[in-house]
Amino acid sequence: MPQLAIKGGKKLRNNKFPAYRTIGIEEQKAVKRVVKSGILSRFLGAWHDDFYGGPEVQALEREWAEYFKVKHAIAVNSATSALYCAVGASGVGPGDEVIVSPYTMTASAVAPLIYNAIPVFADIEEDYFCIDSKSVERNITERTKAIIAVDIFGQPYNVEKINEIAKKYNLIMIEDCAQAPGAEYNGKFAGTLGSIGIFSLNYHKHIHTGEGGIITTDNDELAEKLKLIRNHAEAVLEAKGYSSLVNMVGFNYRMTEIEAAIAREQLKKLPKLIEERLKNVEYLSEKLSKIPCLEMAKVRRNSKHVFYVHPIKFNEKIAGVHRDKFVEAVKAELMPIELRETEGVKIGSGYVKPLYLQPLFQQKIAYGAAGCPFSCEKYKGMVSYKKGICPVVEDMHTNVLITHELMRPGMRKKDLDDVVMAFEKVLANVEELKLQ
Ligand SMILES: *Cc1c(COP(=O)(O)O)cnc(C)c1O
Repeated sequence: MPQLAIKGGKKLRNNKFPAYRTIGIEEQKAVKRVVKSGILSRFLGAWHDDFYGGPEVQALEREWAEYFKVKHAIAVNSATSALYCAVGASGVGPGDEVIVSPYTMTASAVAPLIYNAIPVFADIEEDYFCIDSKSVERNITERTKAIIAVDIFGQPYNVEKINEIAKKYNLIMIEDCAQAPGAEYNGKFAGTLGSIGIFSLNYHKHIHTGEGGIITTDNDELAEKLKLIRNHAEAVLEAKGYSSLVNMVGFNYRMTEIEAAIAREQLKKLPKLIEERLKNVEYLSEKLSKIPCLEMAKVRRNSKHVFYVHPIKFNEKIAGVHRDKFVEAVKAELMPIELRETEGVKIGSGYVKPLYLQPLFQQKIAYGAAGCPFSCEKYKGMVSYKKGICPVVEDMHTNVLITHELMRPGMRKKDLDDVVMAFEKVLANVEELKLQ
């Protein structure tokens, strides 16, 4: 009789995991306040008092800046928009290169393309999965203008080494903090560790407004550019008395008053949500680390990790089967999370396919059919997106890394125990997976 569910045995768990629900009565009240006011947005794409948006947007920006101890916070409609603004404000353009991570949400790597610049992929660290400083430095050329470092899975990038490189080569440091609101390095908040930080408020993240994003910076000049790009720069410049035209084709990346009102309530909940998440991770890590084929991911020295997902390394030699087979068997023992049933059991073999392996980079087709910006005559480099350029990320993704979301607030002790027991059960019956 097979024991493992994947082989026809009995599932370890038959009910769904509790939803991660951060939206409550406070947000309902906030939305009601805005709807009642009748003003759902107050942005005007012209040089005018309303160029900076309505009262909720401006209050959110003040509160965000105060919380994260940064001079400027700029609300936008997604972290993707935030990244595009950040690249634009950095003055990046055709012929330039920007160093990016291959192991992140797609927008943090394609953002340079929006300005016809070339993303150059650096490999990641084996221990922390952020871009590796040695690989970053190896990839710097005279065309490099910026680095986009991602605080992947919830912990800050290698601030000391990478900021030093940025300084040495005079590069703008963009920090993608979408997965790490509340993380810290040396007592300073993630999102404020580079020249520009970007946050996400999409519904997967620690706190959310459905869709939304925030940009942070201490630099007044960058803040002004970011606000222009957010809101139809080209139509505003002249009246505002702003003379540089570089990357001043604007967009509508404006946040509505409803999202801003929700975000203000969500921000108040962040510390408690992080605390609960860290408790769950601690409980799980203690138990999962006793399973011989699993190794808990490390936290960098002087860093606070806030665990967007919980990364675990898998040892195939000890388990005797490939990670993918093992993870499929663990998933078969468990159930989806409420409200996210369509996504299946939230345990991943790896994270996302290393981004340079996507067709866009493999075929070097972005704007039009002719291969711009890769084939642009302003571009004098020879970027490579060949399989093998970042061996660490490829091995992590194909063989080693497991990421899961079964540690978010709402999970009770029994739920966490089920996660542990599913891994234990699969290892105890691993021989069944070796058959055929
Ligand atoms: C979610 C995410 C983004 C994009 O966020 P949106 O708000 O959905 O545009 C960017 N970078 C990282 C690392 C993310 O996790």
